[in-house]
Amino acid sequence: MPLAREAVELLVQAARAWYFEGDQHGLRDREWMALRFLGRANRFSRSPSALAGFIGATRATASQIVKTLEGKSFLVRKPSHEDKRSVVLHVTAQGEKCLSQHDPINHVVNAVTSLGTDECIRLRDSLREVLNHLDAAHQRLNASICRDCMFLAERGPGTGKGRASVEFMCRLYRAPVSLEETELLCTSFERTRDRPKIEQHLDPARVASRG
Ligand code: SF4
Repeated sequence: MPLAREAVELLVQAARAWYFEGDQHGLRDREWMALRFLGRANRFSRSPSALAGFIGATRATASQIVKTLEGKSFLVRKPSHEDKRSVVLHVTAQGEKCLSQHDPINHVVNAVTSLGTDECIRLRDSLREVLNHLDAAHQRLNASICRDCMFLAERGPGTGKGRASVEFMCRLYRAPVSLEETELLCTSFERTRDRPKIEQHLDPARVASRG
């Protein structure tokens, strides 16, 4: 059997962990996907429309999922600091606890972690390359982190001490982005081949373990 096909068939089997019939711990697979995304998304991407784009659903379906998650006290809506007419979806402490204890992908994350840092980096980079090919072919909405985004610019040292105080600027939103925020998912991400200087501010092991 060709190696590529064998690898993809294994991926399809792994996907059974996050695509399933019915519910697990009270949430259907798409509701888990939404909660997981909102738990990892930056402040620009925690909107109902960005959520709909990320999970590949209509606005109506995404709104229904948001209502379900709100009903379970996993989510709350708050007005956006940037635009008072918009809402930002926040995962509550209860939602975070549910993700850490019951997210169906946790078993997969643990299995991948057990491969070790070097293998994790290789796997991450290979999967990212595959997704880049798929996104280019199907012109789908991408979501990734600031580190590889063409809109990220270094702004200079912040007010705190040490490397963690370095601040960045998003040239798309014309807004500051902290070092911590650069590791969150963004649906406005645009890939660049020239990695910005941020790489030097990140601990390689932390980069590798980013879930
Ligand atoms: S730099 Fe890119 S990924 Fe980061 S917030 Fe801006 S658009 Fe999103």
